[in-house]
Amino acid sequence: MILFTKFRFRNYIAITIYPFIIINKNYRGNLVLVNHEKIHSKQQVELFWLFFFIWYIVEFIVRYIQYKNWYLAYKNISFEREAYQNEKKLTYLLSRKKFSFIKYL
Ligand SMILES: [Zn+2]
Repeated sequence: MILFTKFRFRNYIAITIYPFIIINKNYRGNLVLVNHEKIHSKQQVELFWLFFFIWYIVEFIVRYIQYKNWYLAYKNISFEREAYQNEKKLTYLLSRKKFSFIKYL
């Protein structure tokens, strides 16, 4: 379910908390952004939601230690790598194999 709101945190314009995809209303119609968030939806379902967020936070901390930079740490989380590298392929989710984010570790 996609919700358009005034929500915005720093430079983050969207967030997925399955089953909700919350997108800043100024980005309505951005199919690449929607695809990115739908990839996160799949990842969350595969990890039974809670484990996604635990893994996300733990990997962010590991990446932050690795890169010493908030933005680089975020961009290199395996979930984000998968989403950013495939967000422009709008049919990506049709052929994506389960747990594909592991390939992006
Ligand atoms: Zn993302």
